[in-house]
Amino acid sequence: MSVPEISVVLPCFNELPNLPELRRRLVSVLEATGRTFEILFVDDGSRDGSFEAMAEFAARDPRLRALRLSRNFGHQMALTAGVDRARGRLVAVMDADLQDPPELLAEMLAKSDEGYEVVYAQRTAREGESAFKRATAHLFYRLMRRWTNVDIPVDTGDFRLLGPRAVAAFRSLRERHRFIRGMTAWVGFRQGAVTYVRPARLHGETKYPLRKMVRFALDALTSFSHVPLQLGTWLGFAVSSFAFLYIAIVVVLKVLGINERGWTTLMGWILLLGGVQLMLIGVLGEYLGRIYDEVKGRPLYLVSDEVGGDPDVAGEPR
Ligand code: UDP
Ligand code: MG
Repeated sequence: MSVPEISVVLPCFNELPNLPELRRRLVSVLEATGRTFEILFVDDGSRDGSFEAMAEFAARDPRLRALRLSRNFGHQMALTAGVDRARGRLVAVMDADLQDPPELLAEMLAKSDEGYEVVYAQRTAREGESAFKRATAHLFYRLMRRWTNVDIPVDTGDFRLLGPRAVAAFRSLRERHRFIRGMTAWVGFRQGAVTYVRPARLHGETKYPLRKMVRFALDALTSFSHVPLQLGTWLGFAVSSFAFLYIAIVVVLKVLGINERGWTTLMGWILLLGGVQLMLIGVLGEYLGRIYDEVKGRPLYLVSDEVGGDPDVAGEPR
């Protein structure tokens, strides 16, 4: 067997109940395309036996591979590990909970044949997710669009099909705080979309609680925008201009001798300015912490086990 035509990368964190159906549907979709393929499961430190299940799939079918990270590194890292190790000429990435329907791959492959280097799946609706999640996601994608200098498509997850040049470009991006849907937009080339209705998770609960979602949104914003850093400059100008005016008024009042009250105003201003200053120091901290993480230069993830795949296939980049 030579290098497969397409690799499908699946980051999994405690997805055991979804794995059998995922494997079945993926294999049948990929076989129907008539192309050679590999399916690469990446276990992101699951504790429910997901890895044992994938390893068993891999032992029975050389087209299936299983990779285990040494602990939970997070979705974006697991996905990166998978793309790094994928052997296929094209690489598809998708969620393991069947919210990204494997059947859409056929349409995405057709689009890639038309010469699109990056094909992303854009959802026209989402099923089975809370109004809160839908509303925050809606707002988030639109804010990102305004505040960043890359053209990040709205309403897309990480469901993507990457061509060889996009894969090579993606592998060269080694930043630590990764917002992958932004990174795949950043690489450029011809980008195209296919649309779908995002179904609910098959089994289990979301692995992105609010805390992780906020982290993720901050990573996205700081990776692609300096707007929060510039906030201080603009606020500083605004407050200073106002201060000059106010000082003039205060001096005049003093000269006229009508200047005794004012404790309330004073407290108000002290609290307001103190708050704004602390908030802006926090913004600096967000960037500074990320710079610190980058300069440490640690590996993005560590692999503990790897099972399956045809040992004769070359082309594994790292
Ligand atoms: N995931 C992962 N590591 C994590 C969290 C999630 O590999 O730390 C995987 C998860 O198994 C799934 C995908 O990332 O395949 C997307 O996660 P999830 O479906 O929970 O996110 P949601 O669809 O709710 O945004
Ligand atoms: Mg999901």
